[in-house]
Amino acid sequence: MTTHTFTIAYKEVAGEAQLSDSDRKLLNEAWLACDSAYAPYSNFHVGAALELANGLIFKGNNQENAAYPSGICAERVAVFSASSQYPGVAIKCIAVVAKTDVFHLANPVTPCGACRQVIAEYEMLAGQPIRIILQGNSEKIWILEGISNLLPLMFHGGELKK
Ligand SMILES: [Zn+2]
Repeated sequence: MTTHTFTIAYKEVAGEAQLSDSDRKLLNEAWLACDSAYAPYSNFHVGAALELANGLIFKGNNQENAAYPSGICAERVAVFSASSQYPGVAIKCIAVVAKTDVFHLANPVTPCGACRQVIAEYEMLAGQPIRIILQGNSEKIWILEGISNLLPLMFHGGELKK
């Protein structure tokens, strides 16, 4: 038997003043998206903003529905929007933020499992890590260099047989 071990890592900064200009800009875009989230059922507002390798920024926010499973997360709105309009263009970085008056958020909000899987697939297609910036109700910001820090054993269907 062999035991395999993963090491995951994230950086924590105390506020956006410590971010680079490009990271701060993307985080601010995510907050703008968060402000227009459609979240009347959860009151959990999430915004995402991503930067493509061609420099374009795509935003998304959570879109809820009275038929709960029909809603979709902010991250997937942004990622699918970008991929649908610029297929094959790598995602360099994604910022995800959340705010709520209903829950106490001591730490930045991290993507759900489904969104991790989706981000992982686009990272794999691009062949380069996607930088992930996370913030919640506090000034605290987490930065991760690649989705493997959130989803070490992503689902992978394998290589196509010829
Ligand atoms: Zn999600």
